[in-house]
Amino acid sequence: MAVVQPIENPAGAGLRYQATSPADGHVVGEFDAATPAQVQAAVARAREAQPGWAAKSYKERGAYLQRALDILVARQDEFVDQIGEETGRHPLETMFMEIWPACDSLNFYSRRAGKILRDRTVGLHVLKHKRARLVYRPLGVVGVITPWNGPFILALNPTVQALMAGNAVVVKPSEVTSFCGLLVQTLMDAAGLPKHVCQVVTGDGATGAALVEAGVDKIHFTGSVATGRKIGEACGRNLVPCVLELGGKDPMIVCADADMDRATAGAVFGAIQNTGQFCSSTERIYVVASVYDEFVARVVERVEALRQTSSGETDVGPFILDRQIDLVDAQVQDALAKGAVARVGGARNTQAGPLYYEPTVLTEVTHDMDIMTEETFGPIVPIVKVRDETEAIAMANDTKFGLGATVWTKDVARGERIARRLHTGAVVINDASITYGALELPFGGRRHSGVGHVNGESGLRGFCHAQPIISDRFGLKEEMVWYPYTFKKLSDMKGAIRWVFGKFLRRFFG
Ligand code: NAD
Repeated sequence: MAVVQPIENPAGAGLRYQATSPADGHVVGEFDAATPAQVQAAVARAREAQPGWAAKSYKERGAYLQRALDILVARQDEFVDQIGEETGRHPLETMFMEIWPACDSLNFYSRRAGKILRDRTVGLHVLKHKRARLVYRPLGVVGVITPWNGPFILALNPTVQALMAGNAVVVKPSEVTSFCGLLVQTLMDAAGLPKHVCQVVTGDGATGAALVEAGVDKIHFTGSVATGRKIGEACGRNLVPCVLELGGKDPMIVCADADMDRATAGAVFGAIQNTGQFCSSTERIYVVASVYDEFVARVVERVEALRQTSSGETDVGPFILDRQIDLVDAQVQDALAKGAVARVGGARNTQAGPLYYEPTVLTEVTHDMDIMTEETFGPIVPIVKVRDETEAIAMANDTKFGLGATVWTKDVARGERIARRLHTGAVVINDASITYGALELPFGGRRHSGVGHVNGESGLRGFCHAQPIISDRFGLKEEMVWYPYTFKKLSDMKGAIRWVFGKFLRRFFG
C-alpha cells in the first residue's frame, strides 16, 4: 500500500489524501490537496498581510521567532512524535536532523538577520560626488516547496529566512509528509505571528505547480532534479526568481593517511543516516588501494552491527516513501547483475516490514552502474578501489551532480588541495556532510544539484531585493554628460579618461 494515496473527497473541492505510517502502515491522517483557486487565495491573503509584517523592525520580527524557539524547545517531544509518524525514524535521528537545526535556524536568523540586512553606506570608487546606500527590501510573498526527506527542517529553515527578511511565506510541503509541513504553521501560529504571514497549503505536485503560477515573488524549491527543471522553466516564463536545491551523488575520498576508525564510522553514518534519504548522503566511496582492504573490512563490520527493526531501539528505519524501495532495489540488482558484490545486505528486510531495506555494502562497482551515477535514496554503501588521489578526484568529478563531497585525511592541507579540485557545492574534511547545519555558510549545489543557495549571508539576502539608493553629495546643478552634447564636453571626456585611467591615477579609482 502506498504511504499516501488519494481517497474519496465528500466535500468535492479537490483531491483528498490519506497518509499512513511507513513503519507499520497505521493511518496518520487525511488532508486535502489545495486547488489552484485555494492556492491563489492563500497568496492573496499573504500579500495583504506582508506590508504590516515588513513594517516591523528586525527586532520585532526576531521576537516572534524567539517565541517560536521557546515553543519548539518546550514541545520538542510532540514535534518528534509527529515527524516520526510520517517518517518511521528513530526519535534521535529526528532530533538531530530536524529539531536541533530548526532551533538553530530560529535562533541564528532571528538574532543575526538585522545585522546582515542592515542598510549600508557604500563608497563609490569613481562617482566620488555621489553618496550610495544599499538597502535590503523584502521581495513580497515567497513560495517554499519542499520534499519529504527532511520534512520539517527543509520547510522551516527557508521560511525563517524569508520571514526575517520581511516576506510573507506560503509553504507547500511534500504530499508524502504533509503533517510534518503543517508543523511549521502550528509553530508560527503558536508564536503569535500575524495572521496569514506564514501559511502552509497541503497538496501534491499540482498544488506546487499552482503555487509557482500564483504570482509569488520568489520560489524556494527543494526536491528532485526533474521537478526542479519544471519549476525553473515555469519561473523563467513568469520571470520569478527561484532557488533550486536538488539531488546529489556525493563522493567520499579516502586517502592513505586517513584515520581508519573515524573514516569507516563516518562512511557508514554518512551513507546510511535517515536510511540514506539525504540529499548530501555519501553515495560513492573512493578508497586508495593501500588502505582499501582494511577500509572495506571495517565498513562491513560496522554495517553488520547496525540494527533494523520496526520497534524498540533500532538504527536504520524504513523508507519514508514506498516507491523508493523499488527504485533502490532496482539499482542494487542492476549493480549485482553487472558484477558488483554485496559484502553485506543487498535485499529487502521483509522481517522488519515491507518498507525496510538491509543496509548494504557493495564493492566491484563501476560507473556503468546506476548505483554509481543516479541518486540513491537508500542505505547503500558502494566502495571503489582507486590507484591514488588523482584517480579518486577524476572519478568523484565524473557525475552530472555537484552537491557535496567529503575527504578523509590526517593532513588538512592535503584535504583542502583535494577539495579545491572537486566540482561540488561544498566539501567537508573528515566528517559526513554537515554543511546544511553551518548556517554562516551558503548551501547549494552545482550542475544538476541546483541553482542558487540557502543559508549564509548571501542565502538570507537572496530573500531580499538589494536596492541601491544613490544621491548627490554636492547639489550640482547638472552633470557633465547631460545635454547638450558639445565638442568641448567631448574633449573634456577624453581628458577625464586619460586622467582617471592613466597609468598613475588608475590605482586610486580601481
Ligand atoms: P519531488 O521533486 O518529487 O517533490 C518535491 C516537492 O515538489 C513536493 O512538495 C511535490 O509535491 C512538489 N512538486 C511536484 N511536482 C511539482 C510541480 N510540477 N510543480 C511544483 N511543485 C511540484 O522531490 P521529493 O521526492 O519530494 O524529494 C527528494 C529529492 O529532493 C531528492 O532528489 C533529494 O536529493 C532532493 N533534496 C535536495 C536537497 C537539497 O538541499 N539540495 C535537500 C533535500 C532533498
